[in-house]
Amino acid sequence: MNRKLNFNAGPSALPLEVLQQLQDQMVDYQGEGLSIVENSHRGKSFDKLYHDTIDLVKELMNIPSGYSVFFLGGGATLQFGMIPMNFIPQGGSADYTRTGSWANGACDDAMKVRDVHVAFDGKSSGYSTLPDPAGITPSSGASYFYLCSNETIGGVQWKQWPETGSVPLIADMSSDILSRPVPVDKFSLIFAGVQKNLGPSGAALIIVKDEFLNTAADGLPSYLDYKKQASKEGLMNTPPVFPVWGVKLVLEWVKKHGGASGMEKRAEKKAAMIYDVMDRYDGFYSSPVDARYRSLMNIVFRLPDEDLEKLFLQNSAADGMIGLKGHRSVGGCRASIYNGVPEESVEALAGFMDEFARKHG
Ligand SMILES: *Cc1c(COP(=O)(O)O)cnc(C)c1O
Repeated sequence: MNRKLNFNAGPSALPLEVLQQLQDQMVDYQGEGLSIVENSHRGKSFDKLYHDTIDLVKELMNIPSGYSVFFLGGGATLQFGMIPMNFIPQGGSADYTRTGSWANGACDDAMKVRDVHVAFDGKSSGYSTLPDPAGITPSSGASYFYLCSNETIGGVQWKQWPETGSVPLIADMSSDILSRPVPVDKFSLIFAGVQKNLGPSGAALIIVKDEFLNTAADGLPSYLDYKKQASKEGLMNTPPVFPVWGVKLVLEWVKKHGGASGMEKRAEKKAAMIYDVMDRYDGFYSSPVDARYRSLMNIVFRLPDEDLEKLFLQNSAADGMIGLKGHRSVGGCRASIYNGVPEESVEALAGFMDEFARKHG
């Protein structure tokens, strides 16, 4: 087996032992004589799998009582629309931070259905920085305050959370969920597409405070109705069975490796390997990102010119490293080093970057 060193932004690397468990159990799930993906989602087997997964999320994220946790299809993007439809009443408005592609996407979708107040716009800095959380005061009467904890494309990550007082705080944590401990009690709603840090694509994890849930709109079409979805724990219709199964196995793996704080230590160590090379060859590798907000998950960097970037990508690919091309909207290079990316892959990349800089710098 010759596995690539996988730096894909999403779907992205899963721990090898998770893939092997999926393979082992795919045809005959726990000796039942059929696959879990062939079985009824109303049956005992899936019911246990689903609730064990939710219990693991609650345990690993230290979620206090008074929160509902469930999975929905439609990825993170469905939440961009569902959230304003449910939580901003007609005539109301919410505060959004525009910090890069993903927060902007959510904000743009919200603007299609309700009024939005832009509380921060990183446009003038090319989305290379974030607002100082200490300086944030939400608008009075805002239905919620929205942020994206880690901009997957731009490579900026919130390190501290704003105090929003009585205004509910909502975060898209798709690309850094469970990569560090998070004080869930500060948030009224956290959501994450699972395909970066949690498992195979096809589902979103929802963590919502019940008190906030009570403010959701009535009368929306069933799938879009937050209260209805929560009351059925995301099992109103056929759930994304395979991704949830993968998430459960990833969560067990996270637990075995020290939970959220174990993941944080791993993430810090891995990110430091790459940022250290960038700092050592500053000028050859350059970061467009404000150093205070450098992401530990998505490391973006540029080389002196596009020809060198092309060569960098070619040579790294020849060494088995994939996924290092920056998003088409920003160019350059990006290494996504989520929970599932092994330390050895990152070490190999750091070594490659060092050698490449010495040769071409
Ligand atoms: C990938 C990503 C999304 C989009 O997720 P989908 O599941 O494809 O809808 C949204 N927000 C962030 C931060 C992401 O990284």
